[in-house]
Amino acid sequence: MDKSNIRAGRLTSAQYAETFCDIHPPLDQKMAAFESSRCYFCYDAPCMEACPTQINIPEFIRRISTENTLGAGTEILEANILGGTCSRVCPVEILCEQACVRNTSEDKPVTIGLLQRYATDYVFKAVESGKMKQPFTRARATGKKVAVVGGGPAGLSVAHRLAMLGHDVEIFEALPKTGGLNEYGIAVYKMLDDFAQREVKFLLSIGGITVHNGKRLGKELKLVDLRSKYASVFLSIGLGGVNALKLEGEDWPGVMNAVDYIAELRQCKNYSKMQVARDVVVIGGGNTAIDIAIQSKALGAENVTLVYRRGSSDMSATGYEQELAQTRGVKIVLWSRPVGLEGSSAGVRGVKFEKTRKNAKGELEGTNEFFVVPADHVFKAVGQLLLPEVQELEVVKGKFKVDARGETSVKGVYAGGDCIAHKEDLTVAAVQDGKISAYAIHEALTGEKLSGKGMKDYKAIAALDAARVLNHPAHIHGGLGKQKIGTTVGGAR
Ligand SMILES: Cc1cc2nc3c(=O)[nH]c(=O)nc-3n(C[C@H](O)[C@H](O)[C@H](O)COP(=O)(O)OP(=O)(O)OC[C@H]3O[C@@H](n4cnc5c(N)ncnc54)[C@H](O)[C@@H]3O)c2cc1C
Ligand code: SF4
Repeated sequence: MDKSNIRAGRLTSAQYAETFCDIHPPLDQKMAAFESSRCYFCYDAPCMEACPTQINIPEFIRRISTENTLGAGTEILEANILGGTCSRVCPVEILCEQACVRNTSEDKPVTIGLLQRYATDYVFKAVESGKMKQPFTRARATGKKVAVVGGGPAGLSVAHRLAMLGHDVEIFEALPKTGGLNEYGIAVYKMLDDFAQREVKFLLSIGGITVHNGKRLGKELKLVDLRSKYASVFLSIGLGGVNALKLEGEDWPGVMNAVDYIAELRQCKNYSKMQVARDVVVIGGGNTAIDIAIQSKALGAENVTLVYRRGSSDMSATGYEQELAQTRGVKIVLWSRPVGLEGSSAGVRGVKFEKTRKNAKGELEGTNEFFVVPADHVFKAVGQLLLPEVQELEVVKGKFKVDARGETSVKGVYAGGDCIAHKEDLTVAAVQDGKISAYAIHEALTGEKLSGKGMKDYKAIAALDAARVLNHPAHIHGGLGKQKIGTTVGGAR
């Protein structure tokens, strides 16, 4: 292998700063005022229906437009405690912004994601500067303890909501840092300024949540022990395994799992230390494939080719993401599947592909036409898998089987996030799973009926938030008397 083909320091520090800069710079006050003025504050707003956490979008935008930014941020965080992350990483082009009625009138939605970031950043700054405490308070202690395994978005969401409801929570996280893929997976240019850790700190400041890092279920912990020690268990372990290409040479130097490389990149403080090949091939068609391709380019790779076995509309990466990759210099090759790796145990030198097509039955088949793309780095991004760390639970299509409220096949054990089946594995979906299971766990532990309706129905959840009046001693001592869950202490609204 020509060692010079994989090396660090391909760019100058000014170039790294440019290639990894914030993909959507935040709005300033004037821009936020203008954008919020574009909202029609629709009744039965379609943007809100399209948000998996059902944030009251017209309401928070209205608050921005009346300069109640703290109230806007609180409104968002009530529905989605990871609203700061979601404002940065949500594929809004297929969620709220796709549904915005402004698309029909002028082909340009209200920039809901950026407004959400404007409002949540405002709350974060106020809390971080000591001007205010986290806007959420805890209910009277129930004396119940819940174990949460996995400290990613689903685990953090369930933990925060349970803490609000008065339960004590212990999070067991395998890795040294909490945050899951927010910390180790999301593309650098979407999550700058150590935002994942700042958000974890903010979220934990509610109290009642203890995090144990370096504790892995299946190694240091056993489900049977957690079940006997805790009133309930929530599993949010994500998908720790990765699919293989099943080709000879997959263990050669230069062939890597995209998620491992991305995790290394996310922890890297100096991008000039990251090694990258001159010629890179990425295999896959999802978020991870797009992210590794763009970030390889950002590290200075000359030729980055993303190859997917089907067509553009079959890719789970959105049209916007595909376009972004192309504008950043990534070449996308469709209808081609890898059939062999070129090289030796000294290092990979390229990937052989076969062109594909759909046959009359709609199945994928090879066309017997082959081509080779040279590469010294081959990144595999062909999907992630649930690791067989928990044997006791029923699994369907490779994920934990759960009911509508997140309860698994074992009573008292709930699960959410990427380790259960979704239409799309997204941060926002994981947050909603955590919220739904928190209510279900609360009901099971206290017998207190929070809602008679399906927990997937936000309106039911919102109604129970509004209906549940707390008698938390802190409120009484603070002179606030009765207060509903999720309200700010100090009247930010
Ligand atoms: C590269 C990449 C980029 C992505 N980009 C986006 C994006 O831009 N926008 C978006 O919406 N979504 C994106 N996603 C998807 C999103 O990150 C996930 O849907 C979300 O993080 C799921 O949250 P989770 O809590 O279920 O799992 P995770 O975030 O994976 O967290 C699981 C946690 O559990 C821990 N854990 C695992 N096993 C154990 C164990 N046995 N014991 C204890 N702890 C354990 C892990 O260390 C981890 O901290 C991306 C995913 C990837 C892989
Ligand atoms: S659909 Fe668009 S215009 Fe209507 S409330 Fe939502 S953001 Fe505002």
